[in-house]
Amino acid sequence: MCGIIGMVSKDDFTIQDAFKKLKKLEYRGYDSFGYFDKELLIKKTGHILIPKTKKLTRMAILHSRWATHGGVTDKNAHPHQSCDRNITIVHNGIIENYAELKNSLQKKGHRFSSETDSEVVAHYFEEKVKKKTMKQACVDFIKEIKGTFAILVMKNDDDCIYALKRDSPLVIGPSKRSNILASDIYAFSDLTDKAVFFDNDEFAVVDSEKYTFYNELGKPIKKTVQRFRWEQEESLKKKFKHYMIKEIMEEPIVVKRLLFSLKTEQKDNFERLIRLIKKQEKIVFVAAGTSYHASLLGVYYLHKCGVEAQALIASEFENFAFLDEKSLVIPISQSGETMDLIEALKYAKEHKAKIASVVNVPYSTIQRMSDVSLNIMAGQEICVAATKSFVNQVTILLSIAKEFGFKVNLDTLPTRIESVLGQKNKIKKIAKSISKKNDMYVLGRGLSYPVAREVALKIKEISYIHAEGMMGGELKHGTIALIEKGTPVISLISNKDHDMLSNTKEVEARGAKIIMITNSMPGDIRLQTSNDGKFGILATIFGQLLTYYIALERKLPIDKPRNLAKSVTVK
Ligand code: GLU
Repeated sequence: MCGIIGMVSKDDFTIQDAFKKLKKLEYRGYDSFGYFDKELLIKKTGHILIPKTKKLTRMAILHSRWATHGGVTDKNAHPHQSCDRNITIVHNGIIENYAELKNSLQKKGHRFSSETDSEVVAHYFEEKVKKKTMKQACVDFIKEIKGTFAILVMKNDDDCIYALKRDSPLVIGPSKRSNILASDIYAFSDLTDKAVFFDNDEFAVVDSEKYTFYNELGKPIKKTVQRFRWEQEESLKKKFKHYMIKEIMEEPIVVKRLLFSLKTEQKDNFERLIRLIKKQEKIVFVAAGTSYHASLLGVYYLHKCGVEAQALIASEFENFAFLDEKSLVIPISQSGETMDLIEALKYAKEHKAKIASVVNVPYSTIQRMSDVSLNIMAGQEICVAATKSFVNQVTILLSIAKEFGFKVNLDTLPTRIESVLGQKNKIKKIAKSISKKNDMYVLGRGLSYPVAREVALKIKEISYIHAEGMMGGELKHGTIALIEKGTPVISLISNKDHDMLSNTKEVEARGAKIIMITNSMPGDIRLQTSNDGKFGILATIFGQLLTYYIALERKLPIDKPRNLAKSVTVK
């Protein structure tokens, strides 16, 4: 799930220019980075460091890695080169048959210098171009390679970049005197508002003046140029220390923007989605991580107004989904590129289900695979932990449930969110009091159960504290054995839920340090809403702030937590 960039221009550009584009993709992976421009090759572990050199170039490829095959080392960093150094590649994805290919290439005398699956690509092209043109080699590659890839290839004697794609995202940003290839449109959003997306098993030959697309048989194909709109100022960190807190603070604005769009530019699609839910007999949400927790809330809200639905984890979709043409699959994703989801949607298509997606990134693969798609309008989210995107996913799900009779006034949501943000000093104090703990538990019942899981996930990924989000009623069936004197237990109690109150008392009696989040009785944090739907969003925002302040206290790399990447584009 790394980020790749290719730049080819009529004018000189600095290495810094190129690295700045790569930096925008760093959220996709930050194990190592690399650069190549025919004269200079850089391969380094760690977060992207922009080189100081004043060197100019007109063509370069760059990579930011999230390792799948081979450890995090300088050697395994991309770009990878052929034995004769004539071919240089960057790759996002997994070459599934790399071991066989490597074996046969080694027999032909190729020497490998990394442990990655990707290096095989460089040697593959080196071998092919002994007898064929690069174009023919691309056709063979698409035929012979198993797995997923967005690949950029540079050949020393050619003034173009060869780009190939299957499943991993790849897009061209064309402008007058240059073409940029990237894993997503943010990388070039400052240069052009035009984008040409690759579809599966296509390749393109891209130089500074033009790009030509070919299908898997090598036949030239016509592509449409899409226009995108992006709130550029949002990708600037402005006055905040971290993107995470900046993105949490943006929540009232992005909710307003989303609600407005559902009444205006997204009205037709919103109505189409509602019609689909009414028409199809089976509603299945599919998602991963934070988006899965949003979809569990979606199930809860719909059930409350008599609409049956279920939520499945994307990576297990095939094992648990039972679909036919009367099913509606609703994928929820921030990036719209999550590989597990794309696989699930392929399965849904094979079974003739309809697809109605809820995504953040416009024109993403998942959006393009859908019969109808709603944009959550959260704007670019750079911190690896999802915050504002979760809030807007749930806001869309509440808007949908409202159409089926769920009672909620969403117009007041932005001010209610502001009232949680206004309690940040109180939350900071709570964070300080528990920041040295090793374990904690978050309990909820009903709508608070998905919220409990989401809060626990945030605490794990950003604060590095083991946290479990559980159903209040389930604790006594085992986990309660782990409660010791002083174990923090966050209890989410909406509307005097007596059972939840009893579950809280049960752990308190065993010495737990209770942090009570309520809307209708005294607690550590009081949320200003009597509505269950809004309680879910506000309680999550409390959890986001708590996580941020714990991580700050522990001096952790908040925006880029270890081992993670923002969009998970591998299986
Ligand atoms: N499989 C390649 C590697 O491990 C690329 C990984 C990715 O797409 O993030 O180097």
